[in-house]
Amino acid sequence: MPTVLDRLRRRYETTDKKCPACGYVDTERNWESRTDGGRVVYRHVCPSCDASREHTFRLT
Ligand SMILES: [Zn+2]
Repeated sequence: MPTVLDRLRRRYETTDKKCPACGYVDTERNWESRTDGGRVVYRHVCPSCDASREHTFRLT
């Protein structure tokens, strides 16, 4: 995988740890990334309340 994707994921892992729904701070870095070729999606599911959030990037 391109290193730019790793950098993006790491950015979320280090800056977006707090669940906006319940305030839980996830120190386990549960961000997942997947790609369908045209874009990459980073998804996090809160281990406390199961709220999920995603960030999507287009690969150009
Ligand atoms: Zn939560």
